[in-house]
Amino acid sequence: MNEEKIVTRFAPSPTGFMHIGNLRTALYAWLLARANGGRFIVRIEDTDQVRLVEGAVEVILQTLRQTGLDYDEGPEVGGEHGPYVQSERKEIYRKYAEELVAKGQAYYCFCTPERLQQLHDEAAAADSVGGYDRHCRNLLPEEVAERLSRGESYVIRQKIPLEGVTSYTDEVFGEISMENKEMQDQILLKADGYPTYNFAHVVDDYLMGVTHVVRGSEYLTSTPKYVLLYDAFGWPRPHYVHLPLLMGQNEDGKISKLSKRHGAVSFQDLLQAGYLPQAIVNYIALLGWCPKDSNQEIFNLAELCQAFSIDGISKSPSVFDYGKLNWFNSEYIKQLSPTNFAERVMPLLKQKCPSDGLNLDKLAQLLHTRVSTINEAANMVDFVAERLPLDLANYTNKKNKTTPELCLRILQEVQPRLVACADWQNDTLFELLKAYAAESGVKAGAVMLAVRLAVARQAVTPGGATELMEVFGKAESLARIELAMAELQ
Ligand code: GLU
Repeated sequence: MNEEKIVTRFAPSPTGFMHIGNLRTALYAWLLARANGGRFIVRIEDTDQVRLVEGAVEVILQTLRQTGLDYDEGPEVGGEHGPYVQSERKEIYRKYAEELVAKGQAYYCFCTPERLQQLHDEAAAADSVGGYDRHCRNLLPEEVAERLSRGESYVIRQKIPLEGVTSYTDEVFGEISMENKEMQDQILLKADGYPTYNFAHVVDDYLMGVTHVVRGSEYLTSTPKYVLLYDAFGWPRPHYVHLPLLMGQNEDGKISKLSKRHGAVSFQDLLQAGYLPQAIVNYIALLGWCPKDSNQEIFNLAELCQAFSIDGISKSPSVFDYGKLNWFNSEYIKQLSPTNFAERVMPLLKQKCPSDGLNLDKLAQLLHTRVSTINEAANMVDFVAERLPLDLANYTNKKNKTTPELCLRILQEVQPRLVACADWQNDTLFELLKAYAAESGVKAGAVMLAVRLAVARQAVTPGGATELMEVFGKAESLARIELAMAELQ
């Protein structure tokens, strides 16, 4: 593969969000270029003017920045093949569409929307596939010239061969063939002067020197039409790398195309839900690709570049698994420095637990190894934010042989020692409780449990009794212990 310099591109339509499938396409295209010392281009495909969304290009570029997918040519950075926004290239497409007409490989079509609608309705009534009937395919050149000079509205259509088969070899899916008679004379240039995606991307990929077209497998079966365009121009065909479908699992266990019903499906939604960009990238790298001869799962971008090759891409659909993403995210959260984690979680902690006297730095430290997303912290700190109702059943614990009575005794006995404690921090408090256990003959586990339940008021906590007392501070810890004593009496 090294005989030519690899050039790949990411060519998103500006929809306003970055679907995970699109991000995976960008990542694989980027990896293919970077792993082989090639070039990576970004091109904005905005020829569908009806679907334009304000600010959508910025969402795309921001996602690329946040994920570290740098590009050599494209919006903002420029390059020798610009402009990189299709709506700014209109005249280029017209020129090439007219060139195809001159070559006898495309034709002007003057059929009105009403006529096309009628064809459509007739086909629907007859339950047939229908499509364009090639009415204008063989108009005489004089008639065409005359109608053009009259200013009649027209489109330019591709002249698909009527017989034969068109094949190409996809790098992932192998040989794909399509009978020419199955294909429509598709529109290349629309009546408003804009090109269709079908035409514009072929012209651009050629002009931009793209050697490998990497994209979702929804384009697998339209690609024969595209290779016919390359052939019609006499341009060399690029390599095609179509990526497996991305699926999600429904509640009933069935799988279907990944969509909102499965949960967050855009990069922005995942960030909102508290996932880290590099964890998302790492996880989606493995959704459809796996390294050769290794079970490695945690990869940074540089490691992915080292390991990536086309032959590791799978044909079978990949199922997006939120549980697995959580695992990746918790691994990346653990890798954050304590300060970095604290900075990310602090706004949430301050909002959930606004009362003075709480040691939120300590709380952040306790959460660091225990959350799989930053947002998950929100559900884990309710017991800090408020005094939860008493749950007496918790005080009966088989493993530590506790009963509510024993817990009450423990609390009554440790309380004066805690009141006297002048150094309210984990180690000191831990020694204090241990010393009490040794002196009183009560199991240390029972002491820790009684105190932990008294301050947390719930059984499962992020951290032990003395760590939590450090979070609550002396006043609130003692207030909660007194409350528990009153309740247990
Ligand atoms: N604009 C197309 C899309 O977003 C690009 C497909 C391609 O990469 O050729 O689906």
